[in-house]
Amino acid sequence: MDLTEAFVELLRRASTDLPPDVEQALREAYEREDEGTPAKSVLRTILTNVKLARENSVPMCQDTGSLIFYIDMPEGEKESYYKDLIRKAAAIATEKQYLRPNAVDPITGKNSGNNVGKNAPFFHISRWDKDEIRVRLLLKGGGSENVGTQYKLPYAPLKAGRDLEGVRKVIIDAVYKAQGLGCAPGTLGVGIGGDRTTSYMLSKEQFFRKMGERHPEKVIADFEMRLKDELNQLNIGPMGFGGKTTVLDVFVDYQHRHPATFYVAISYNCWAFRRKTMIIKNGEVTYYD
Ligand code: SF4
Repeated sequence: MDLTEAFVELLRRASTDLPPDVEQALREAYEREDEGTPAKSVLRTILTNVKLARENSVPMCQDTGSLIFYIDMPEGEKESYYKDLIRKAAAIATEKQYLRPNAVDPITGKNSGNNVGKNAPFFHISRWDKDEIRVRLLLKGGGSENVGTQYKLPYAPLKAGRDLEGVRKVIIDAVYKAQGLGCAPGTLGVGIGGDRTTSYMLSKEQFFRKMGERHPEKVIADFEMRLKDELNQLNIGPMGFGGKTTVLDVFVDYQHRHPATFYVAISYNCWAFRRKTMIIKNGEVTYYD
């Protein structure tokens, strides 16, 4: 397959085909909600929409998000070659209406019209020892991005100190303040430690974990499960209409910090949790959810 076409296909799949683990989590949420409630009705509509988007190869949401690529490639591969192909693919995918034009110049207010612009799409590129290229894509909705936030501990308004209990308080605060905006039920990616930038980076990388995939360290895994339970007792519910499902999952990771800083970055993904992976090896392309 021509590589530009392969990237267009990656974008099409991401925009139109919700990963099965996310759909399953939404289905379980639907089963949990009581008959006749707005929560049940919202989840039913979301699940119908997911099915129709897949069957008709149309975007599952009118906002097809920002294009964020995470690429791992062997030494010797030329970055600019792949970036150029992806920019071309983004323009084609926009033309084919798999993507809405979502790249706006913040100075002039002009939309580029094809999802290509300065740092759009955005690329995180790493080198690795494998003899294959892994391209992971997030289509990140703008509404859900707006409710992401970052705290600096200690945080006096909540009496949140520099420990896991302090982290717990600010995460609950962030979801409480969102009140269903960002199109709940959402999924949280939390990055503890690092600096202003790397805490956010760590938080977004959590979105490549599968629903229910717990952190390998028990203390963090237990923390994730406790938070998921507590957040789902806030009764914010799907789209903020009340209900038992405010979040589908909570993914947390940490990294070392400077002694003087303690950041907690919280990234929020909406129900339209769009991620896809593509592997290029020996000229063959394979897609994964
Ligand atoms: S937050 Fe997500 S579901 Fe809501 S409009 Fe944006 S992309 Fe769509």
